[in-house]
Amino acid sequence: MSFKPQILNHGDAARAWARERQGTGLRVGFVPTMGALHAGHLSLVAAARRECDATIASVFVNPTQFAPHEDFARYPRDLEADVALLAQAGCDAVFTPTADEIYPAGFCTTVDVGPVARVLEGAARPTHFVGVATVVLKLLHLTHADLAYFGRKDYQQTVVVQRLVADLNVPCGVRVCPIVREADGLAMSSRNRYLSGEDRARAVSLSAGLRAAEALVQRGERDAGALRGAVERELSAAGVEHDYIELVADGSVTPVETLAGPSTLLVAARLGGVRLIDNAQLDPAARDPKDHGEVGPPC
Ligand code: AMP
Repeated sequence: MSFKPQILNHGDAARAWARERQGTGLRVGFVPTMGALHAGHLSLVAAARRECDATIASVFVNPTQFAPHEDFARYPRDLEADVALLAQAGCDAVFTPTADEIYPAGFCTTVDVGPVARVLEGAARPTHFVGVATVVLKLLHLTHADLAYFGRKDYQQTVVVQRLVADLNVPCGVRVCPIVREADGLAMSSRNRYLSGEDRARAVSLSAGLRAAEALVQRGERDAGALRGAVERELSAAGVEHDYIELVADGSVTPVETLAGPSTLLVAARLGGVRLIDNAQLDPAARDPKDHGEVGPPC
């Protein structure tokens, strides 16, 4: 008989599942997702399986991280397909809470992580990170995980989560895993399926721009303006308007004007109503081009 993950519909069941394993000395890894799974999500499961003894993923489309005009209602949902993919990936359990469990009547506590949540994505989506931080904290409590796995694709989210876990003494380690890309370089995202054929072709300009900036760094460029310009050129050649292009010190959202240490170049753009984000780590000391996001080494 083929392997099937255990489906846990309620937080009590998820916590009991984790505690049972932790009671016998096993380490529980957790992969939070909103479903519509792709190889990027599955790379997080693979990373959790490498490091932990038992792996639980959640599938929950969190309403509070969507603004009223955003795509919550049409966000792709296919739990059966997600569970099949998680089974193939060897995930041991899937936590599928309802919105009523996560946000019961009377719910009113939220988590505001502060300045790191207000810039970049937070400026474009002012309520987004409050929703993210609140649900992540709840999911970490409910799954009682030892380690939680997040994708670098959502770079600012990893900064927010690390801040949250540190500030609120959450007893869970945070792992950040490489970006998984399509063959042509586009960062995988559940939202890529919204792109029209034409926009899908133009969307490659984000990763192409980041690669162009990396090539400049290899040739010795250290000026943030020049690196941002490389991304901007690729986008405008494809007729794509950006929301922001920013170079920040790695692990933070603090802009830098000179590439003097490990940094991350971030880009956000909108194509036909679909918001896409991507980023690349740039390191002036690195001799070889960075890993471009294959399902790669452990986080
Ligand atoms: P989501 O379902 O979009 O909330 O994403 C769940 C997790 O998967 C987040 O930690 C994302 O950063 C991560 N993720 C999404 N896309 C990718 C990707 N292309 N590569 C690596 N991780 C990803």
